[in-house]
Amino acid sequence: MHLEHLAIAVADLDAALRFYRDVLGLTLERVEELPSEGVRVAFLPLGESHIELVQPTQEETGITRWMAKTGGGMHHLCLAVDDIRAALARLSAAGAELITPQPVARPDGTLYAFIHPRSTGGVLIELYQKSQPTSP
Ligand code: ZN
Repeated sequence: MHLEHLAIAVADLDAALRFYRDVLGLTLERVEELPSEGVRVAFLPLGESHIELVQPTQEETGITRWMAKTGGGMHHLCLAVDDIRAALARLSAAGAELITPQPVARPDGTLYAFIHPRSTGGVLIELYQKSQPTSP
């Protein structure tokens, strides 16, 4: 298991990049528009992980409501696991509250699921299983 990414919700992606890239000195790998999720995401590698800057592009999504309440900031961290179904079964058996009890597939085949902050000490945690695991 390793930290896949850490997501920070921002109102203005370009303004955020002026800090994270231009001032802090991280490298911008790419920016993706994800209309199906209502967000625009910048990927900034950091060791084996990366920071994702997430800007909502639609009203009435979970992240928009969260930002209206909190003003934005650190939104979730994501842990890459080898077997997401086994991880979810273990969490569920232990009584953890799962936002997505079954993994959801992204267009690239990556599976993801979210664990509610009520079960994690206040942090939204995403689990990730890449489509093609490097080890059998
Ligand atoms: Zn994420």
